Order: sequence, then structure tokens, then C-alpha cells
Amino acid sequence: MRATPAYVPGEQPKAGQRVIKLNTNENPYPPSPRVLEAMQRGLVESLRLYPDPDATALRAKAALVYGIPIDAILVGNGSDELLSLLVRALVDPGGIVAYPVPTYSLYRTLVALQGARAVEVPYPADWSIPPALADAGAPLTFLCNPNAPSGTLVPIADVAELARRVAGVLVVDEAYVDFAADHALRLLADHSNVVVLRTLSKSFSLAGLRVGLAFGHPELTHGLRTVKDSYNVNRMTQLGAEAALADLPAMQANVRRIVATRVVLTAELEQMGFAVPTSEANFVLARRPGRSMAPVARALAARGILVRHFAVPGLDDALRITVGTDDEITALLAALREICPS
Ligand code: PMP
Repeated sequence: MRATPAYVPGEQPKAGQRVIKLNTNENPYPPSPRVLEAMQRGLVESLRLYPDPDATALRAKAALVYGIPIDAILVGNGSDELLSLLVRALVDPGGIVAYPVPTYSLYRTLVALQGARAVEVPYPADWSIPPALADAGAPLTFLCNPNAPSGTLVPIADVAELARRVAGVLVVDEAYVDFAADHALRLLADHSNVVVLRTLSKSFSLAGLRVGLAFGHPELTHGLRTVKDSYNVNRMTQLGAEAALADLPAMQANVRRIVATRVVLTAELEQMGFAVPTSEANFVLARRPGRSMAPVARALAARGILVRHFAVPGLDDALRITVGTDDEITALLAALREICPS
């Protein structure tokens, strides 16, 4: 067994435990009812047969919704699987992968598992793309946009410039992009080295379903297809995801509610003395420069409120808080005012 530090996901409460869960960026609102209906129809139909290895109906739906050719789309068992496929397909052991930090910590784990080397380039204070990122000459560069855990979005013109400057493939991880004002799908037309990743886990309220979508040049998506398990996305998931994409208004209504709550949460946190970078995601990073937030996260947990604290240099003074329902955020703010008077 190789000694690779594992990715540490946010804590999941035990069955029956009542908590306010603001630590893993799930959507607090339910998905479109059409998802469950489609999955129930599928259950009755047949679990005896294997699923479509190419998720053809789902890809056709995604092609229509996003305006991207079907052969430029690959479906994964969550975008985490797609990230893993990209590293396995594009990076040799001993090779390098570049990305700005702090960011989604799974990138580091996947690079280590591949026996490759991560070139981690710190974000500047304004969370813009570090100019040195493209200089790494990496065959694979990750850009999480909006970034986790900062929530910040870099302008798509800057992403296009990065795509022109990198030596290899640029993966734009858009897990949170439905909560943002812009996205990078239009770069695909002119940049054959760009892959855009989406997930149904956040805006579509379907983290439990496990659906990720990769959009990229057909040569790239074809290469990834050869690395994936044949039946990587199960029958129920394919049906549910297709139904979710057929009901965009349900997703958009939830996004609007979350964005409205994000505005209130940000303003209240700032009033309490937290520094909060402008978030275009369904979470905010609340920072008290120089003050460890570890005891605050523990005190919140003792009150049944889970938020994410990263015990790593540079993030110890911050809490990442998922935007929950208005009631959940009201409870969080009340608890924070008690725990953390300014
Ligand atoms: N990218 C980022 C930036 C994420 O935060 C997450 C969720 N942890 C993912 C990808 C993975 O999402 P999925 O549920 O589709 O695997």
C-alpha cells in the first residue's frame, strides 16, 4: 500500500443526528420532483440490465441544454471521477500538475495517487490567476472557478488567456458555476485544450446521485472514455440526471434563493468583523485575519452547527460556510454572535 495522504471529505452526521449541516456545500433545497419520478419509472422497468456505458440519452440532453456537441461530452460518477480520469489519462507518473492554492484539496490527493508532482502556485490576495501558473509547463492545469474555498470567480477573459498560455490541458472545474455570473463553456469553441467540468451535486441538489459532466474536445473526451469503467454511471442515475436537466427552472429557483441568502449572510458576517471575499458560489469564506477559527468551529459543532474549518497554514483563520436555508443561516449567525463577539 502506497502512503498517500487521503482526501478528507467534510464530516457526515450519523443517522438520526439532528444538525444544521453547512460544511459540504450541499443544496438545502430538494431537487426537481421529476428526478424521483424518472428514477421510479426506471426501477419498475429493469435493474436486471446493465446501464448504457455511454449514457447516450443523458449526453444528448446535456448537448441540447448546454449547446455543446454530444461527442464533446462525457458523464462521470460525480465530477470527482472525471478529475481522477483526467489525471490518469493525461499525466505520467513523475509528471507534473499545476494549480493555484488554496483550492479543492482532492487535486493534491489525485496527483499523489498518480505518483506525479503537484506545482501549487499561491493565489495573490485578490484571488486573481497567479501569472506563474502557466509557467509550470504542466501537461495538466486545474482551475477551480468559482474557487473553493474562497468562492471567488476569475473573469472568463483571464481563463481564456490562461488557456492560451498553458503548455497542456486546462481543466476548469465549474462545480459551483450555476451560482456565478459567468462560465467558461464558450471557450471550448476556440480552445481545444480546455475541459470544463460540471456537477449536478450543488445547484441541482443531487449530491447523492453522483453525476459529473465533462465538456471538451472530442479527442480528449474519447481518450478519457478509454480509461473509465464501462458502467461508471448507473441506470437510476442516468435517468434522474436526464430528468434534472429537463427541469432547469427548478434548479434556477433554488439558485436564486441561495444567492439571496448569500447576500444577507455576507453582509451580516462583515458586520461582525469577518473579511469575506466576494462569493459566486453556494458558500462563503469568513475570515478573522490572524485568529484561529478552530475553537469557533468546535463551539458551533457543539451547538449542532457544522461548518468547515481547514487546519492548514493560510486557512486556519477562516471558516467555510455553506449557504443553507434562511432559518439555518439565522441560527448560525445567532450562534456566531454568542461564540465570537467582535
Ligand atoms: N469540484 C469541486 C471544486 C468540489 O468542491 C466538488 C465537491 N466536493 C467536486 C468537484 C466534486 O463534486 P461531485 O459531487 O460531482 O463529485
